[in-house]
Amino acid sequence: MVDCMARVIEQHRLSADYFMLRLEAPEVTAIARPGQFVHVRVTGLGDAALRRPFSIYGADQGVLALVYKTVGRGTEQLARLATGDSVSVIGPLGNGFPLDCGERVPLLVAGGYGVAPLSFLARRLGRRGVLLVGARRADDILCTADFTDLAWDVRVATQDGSRGERGLVTDLLDACLATSPVVPAEIYACGPDGMLRAVGERAAAAGVRAWLSLDKHMVCGVGACLACVQRLRRADGTEWIGRVCHDGPVFEAREIVW
Ligand SMILES: Cc1cc2nc3c(=O)[nH]c(=O)nc-3n(C[C@H](O)[C@H](O)[C@H](O)COP(=O)(O)OP(=O)(O)OC[C@H]3O[C@@H](n4cnc5c(N)ncnc54)[C@H](O)[C@@H]3O)c2cc1C
Repeated sequence: MVDCMARVIEQHRLSADYFMLRLEAPEVTAIARPGQFVHVRVTGLGDAALRRPFSIYGADQGVLALVYKTVGRGTEQLARLATGDSVSVIGPLGNGFPLDCGERVPLLVAGGYGVAPLSFLARRLGRRGVLLVGARRADDILCTADFTDLAWDVRVATQDGSRGERGLVTDLLDACLATSPVVPAEIYACGPDGMLRAVGERAAAAGVRAWLSLDKHMVCGVGACLACVQRLRRADGTEWIGRVCHDGPVFEAREIVW
């Protein structure tokens, strides 16, 4: 884990509420793996000590890239950063996705900004797969070109029908699992809890292994404060309490007790 000041190389708006931030952080990118996250201290807030977690979207040639949605004070402050500014970054944190899925087809399921770590994953897997991405409306569908550039099969659903199929990403998953060209598959998913739970249930029913990246409110990011605890189940059925920041954020679906 690296604790550094990272210089802003570039920041641009992707759509109404979403930004891409590129930071110079070679020590972080050198060891970053898909599914890991960084903890960013946003200056200019009264509670400046609190950091905000963001998945690593890219880690190439010393450039750490994040994709984020402005939802509150921290992310609004982040959106004000300009080229040349510096931010304090700790990372990479967390376990990340397992990269070896054998002969199985990677089936990535993203909700909203959950596509960020999955794009990094697709680039590191070095093989083609299927991306299912869903969101409320077209403006919330991000980064699909990353996957089409890699010749992935990209399927989109929006709840208002403004892009792709009208419906939920889990409708796409149902169709995918029913029509078997992507089975056997290995599922990797990132998005809101409701979506992850539904993905896990479908994976279990289809006998497909699924890796879920939990988006849990967290504070310290390093396992000390217990703000992000999650009930988990071992293979023998016994339960334990894990810390999403330290033991996750990626868990095999069968481990999670919702
Ligand atoms: C491991 C991990 C990876 C993440 N990766 C990304 C990412 O790649 N891109 C991105 O845009 N966001 C990501 N998030 C969520 C991001 O950390 C929060 O949106 C951010 O901390 C909000 O800060 P804020 O000060 O703007 O909002 P706050 O003022 O703290 O909160 C504003 C609103 O956002 C909600 N909120 C805060 N934190 C979260 C959270 N973790 N999940 C869901 N809702 C939250 C609050 O309940 C509130 O309604 C990630 C979170 C985790 C735990």
